[in-house]
Amino acid sequence: MSTPLTLETIRSAPKVLLHDHLDGGLRPQTVIELADASGYQGLPTTDAGVLGGWFRDNANSGSLVRYLEGFAHTCGVMQDEAALVRVAAEAVEDLAADGVVYAEIRYAPELNTAKGLALEQVVEAVQEGFRLGERRAAAAGHRIRVGTLLCAMRQNEGWLRIAELAVRYRDLGVAGFDIAGPEAGFPPSKGRDTFEYLRQQNAHFTIHAGEAFGLPSIWEAIQHCGAERLGHGVRIADDIKVSEADGTAELGRLAAYVRDRRIPLEMCPTSNLQTGAAPTLADHPIGLLAKLRFRVTVNTDNRLMSDCSLSSEFAALAETFGYGWADLRWFTINAMKSAFLGFDERLAIIDEVIKPGYAALSA
Ligand SMILES: [Zn+2]
Repeated sequence: MSTPLTLETIRSAPKVLLHDHLDGGLRPQTVIELADASGYQGLPTTDAGVLGGWFRDNANSGSLVRYLEGFAHTCGVMQDEAALVRVAAEAVEDLAADGVVYAEIRYAPELNTAKGLALEQVVEAVQEGFRLGERRAAAAGHRIRVGTLLCAMRQNEGWLRIAELAVRYRDLGVAGFDIAGPEAGFPPSKGRDTFEYLRQQNAHFTIHAGEAFGLPSIWEAIQHCGAERLGHGVRIADDIKVSEADGTAELGRLAAYVRDRRIPLEMCPTSNLQTGAAPTLADHPIGLLAKLRFRVTVNTDNRLMSDCSLSSEFAALAETFGYGWADLRWFTINAMKSAFLGFDERLAIIDEVIKPGYAALSA
């Protein structure tokens, strides 16, 4: 008999996370302690429970200004090496405790240089933290492996510099590159030289596209820039017509291309509800896209702001769409296949960790 799906049993299942922001996943207590240690002013409270609620309410407010205020605080306390090591290590420990066996965690190093750290110091401190987190997780009985994605911010100059940093540190655990920040007004094609450079270096990259902005952003990310994956990609659903009469779906050329090429969609359901990309989870395109067998993956985006974990995202999807273990296994294998990790290593995690894990739960 198969194990019932609950938050607890989902937590025990092996999971893979491709889209998680380091500065969106701090523990509230850590924000408070780091602010205290560094003299950072401006936190709305020094009570961890209240602060956690404040981050969530801000993200739920529907105001982008308030949403971004949360990141001003988390980045504000991530300005020295000790803080970066701690935040990175705790992120890995938290994911491991949630049953994540492979994760790619991303951040924009340029947001951690306000007090004078060089970009290289930022990257090295975060890498040190990730390795420390992996060792601590192993000591607690959880096997997890973490790769890093370095983000450039769309609204800033200097994308190429961050791409060069990603390439320079690729043998030390930096798995790829991304661009984050406001989509409208900052099309990915603005950085064509950056993506050209990455391709010439045989380097991996994903692009945030199709979250706040529609199909042109997705099209540019894929066809002008050569993105291997799409951060969110929710709006690809705009290129699919579903018949009201019989529910059949007709894919436009871009949607068909994304599905045919198996371009992974890094979907973050709770985060999308908060930013208004979908009104309710039942209306979220993830249900349709999964049914149509796009390469859908499930992700957290910002665990602190969305008050979520990968397990809670899976549980919410299972409840809304009636998913069972076979579906959760499918999302997980999709994610592992799409990771910026060597083919042999991806296969090993699928065969040795993911398949046996789900077999035990659904046996
Ligand atoms: Zn994101």
